[in-house]
Amino acid sequence: MKMPDMKQARKRTNNNINYTKYDSNLKFGKNKKYFVRTYGCQMNEHDSEKIKGMLNDCGFIETQSAENADIVILNTCAIRENAHDKVFGYLGVLKHIKDTINKDLLIGICGCMSQEEVVVNEIKNKYKYIDFVCGTHNLDNLLSIIKTKMDTKKNQIEVLSYEGDVVEGIPVSRDSKYSAWVDIIYGCDKFCTYCIVPYTRGMQRSRKKEDILEEIKTLKEKGYLEVTLLGQNVNAYGKDLYDNYNLANLLSDVSDIGIPRIRFVTSHPWDFTEEMVDVIASRENVMPYIHLPLQSGSNKILKLMNRRYTKEDYLKLYDSIRTKVKNASITTDIIVGFPGESEEDFMETLDVVNKCKYDGAFTFAFSPRENTPAALMKETVSEEDKMDRLHRLNEIVNKYSNEANKRLEGQIVKCLVTSLSDKDKNKVCGYTENMKLVNIEGPSDLIGNIVKVKITDAKSFSLDGIYVKD
Ligand code: SF4
Repeated sequence: MKMPDMKQARKRTNNNINYTKYDSNLKFGKNKKYFVRTYGCQMNEHDSEKIKGMLNDCGFIETQSAENADIVILNTCAIRENAHDKVFGYLGVLKHIKDTINKDLLIGICGCMSQEEVVVNEIKNKYKYIDFVCGTHNLDNLLSIIKTKMDTKKNQIEVLSYEGDVVEGIPVSRDSKYSAWVDIIYGCDKFCTYCIVPYTRGMQRSRKKEDILEEIKTLKEKGYLEVTLLGQNVNAYGKDLYDNYNLANLLSDVSDIGIPRIRFVTSHPWDFTEEMVDVIASRENVMPYIHLPLQSGSNKILKLMNRRYTKEDYLKLYDSIRTKVKNASITTDIIVGFPGESEEDFMETLDVVNKCKYDGAFTFAFSPRENTPAALMKETVSEEDKMDRLHRLNEIVNKYSNEANKRLEGQIVKCLVTSLSDKDKNKVCGYTENMKLVNIEGPSDLIGNIVKVKITDAKSFSLDGIYVKD
C-alpha cells in the first residue's frame, strides 16, 4: 500500500525524468464490463481514454451504466470543493448498487483526488467499499492494481508522490473519430498559490517531440481532422527537455504534418512568447482560438496568487495576439474573492474584462484547496460579497460573449461537424475554428467533415447556422 504524501509531492529535486514504455500483457477482463466516469479538465478526459484503452486491451468491454458494470472507475478532479462533493455524492450511488444489485462490483478511484492525503486517508478509513485507488503518476500500473485486488480481495492503494515520469505507448480508446487529444507536457511548476495541480500532477515534464509528432502523423493517417495539444501549461513545453525547442517550434512541426486543425490548451501568460504568437498568426491550420487565463486584474492579487505577471504584461500580450492573429477568439479564467481582494482590486479585474471583451470566460468564486498556500491565507471576502462579485462579473462577460457571437450573424464560417445536435436531433453540431459551438441545419452525413455554415442566429453560448454547399 502506497499512500499519497503531500510533503513529498511539494519537492522538486530536478532528478532526471524517466522516459519509459508501457508494457502490460495482462488479459483478465474477458466477459467483464467497465464503466468510467470522468470529472474535470481535458487532461482527465484524455487520461480516461487511456484507462479505457488499457481495460479494452485487457479484454474488458465498456458499458454506459454502472448498474451493468463489473468495475467502475471514477477519474476525479481536485481543483475545487464542488468537484469533491460531486465525487463523494456519486460514491453513495455506487455503494447502493454494490449493496443491492452487484455485491462483486469493483469501485476504483483515479485522477487528482487520489493524490490528496486527506482524501485517501478518508477513503481508507471510512469508505471501505472502495476497492482500489490508483495515482496520477502510475496510471500505467492500473491493470496490475486491479489484478492484485481481484486475486487478494484486499483493497489496494497505490499512489506515488514524486515528480513523475513520462510513459509512452499506453493504449488509448478515443471518444472521437475526428478530434483527438494529444498530451505534450505533464505536471506544473508554477505553484500558483490557490492551485493543487503542482502537488497532484507533479513536476513539469515534456514528452519527446519525436513521440508527439509520430502520434500526430498516425492520427492523420487514421483520418483525424483535429488535434488538441494538452498540458496544464502548454507554453512551458520543451523548457525542461531542450535548450532551444519550445511550443512555437512544436506548433510549426505539427502544422507541417498537414492536419487541418491544431489547437492547444491550457496557456500561461508568463511563458507565452511573441514567437508563439507569430507561429499561430502565420499558420493556416493553427486555429485562432486561445484560452488565456487572467485570474485577476489586480497586480496586488496577481502577486498573492504567484501568477508572476502584471496586469500590464497581460494586456500587452493580449494586444499582440489581437493585433497579429486574424479573427482570434480569446477566452479566459477568472477567480473572484481571493483573500485580500478589495472592491478596488475587483474593479481592476472588471477593467481588464472591459478592455479585452473576451469571447467567453470561466469564472469562479475562490474556494481554498487544502495543502495549497492560499488555504493558509485569511479569508477577507464574505461568501455574500463573492457571489455579488461573481454575478457582476458574469453579467459583463456574457454581454461581450453575446456581442462576439452576434458579430458572426450572416457570416459563412468553417465548422468541424462532430455529432448530432443535443438541442435538436434533426440538426448536427460542430465547432468553428474559433471554438464556437454551432447547431447546424444539415444532413447527418456531414458528421466527420469540415463544412461551410452560414450563421443565422447567435446566442451567448452557441450559434445556429445552415449548411452551405461548396
Ligand atoms: S499554471 Fe497555476 S493554475 Fe495552472 S496548473 Fe499550474 S499552478 Fe495550477
